[in-house]
Amino acid sequence: MSKLQESFAQDAAKLIQKAVELGYTVTLGEAWRTPQQAQWNADHGTGIAHSLHIERLAIDLNFFKAGAYVSNGSDLTNIGTWWETLSPMHRWGGRFTHLPDGNHFSISPDGHTA
Ligand SMILES: [Zn+2]
Repeated sequence: MSKLQESFAQDAAKLIQKAVELGYTVTLGEAWRTPQQAQWNADHGTGIAHSLHIERLAIDLNFFKAGAYVSNGSDLTNIGTWWETLSPMHRWGGRFTHLPDGNHFSISPDGHTA
């Protein structure tokens, strides 16, 4: 396990706490992903092959407000912006130009997104 993976896990815990503070209910989505799954996603247009999920540096979370699923990623800008303040390596999927994904949070050691 790398130090970065360890700090990502701690930051993911803080992220959930922060979302609760902001009035959201949160459930867990996908964290670790096999290279085969990432390739399948890329082949089907729902992800990329070199996903940070493979490196245990990304997590997808589901957000609910007043019991309703928040389906529009731009409604999560407050959480995404907070995540980005944690370090210059923190990335929020809501900013991705290719396949924007407001539910996706990662640490990108080399600056590549996803
Ligand atoms: Zn993701």
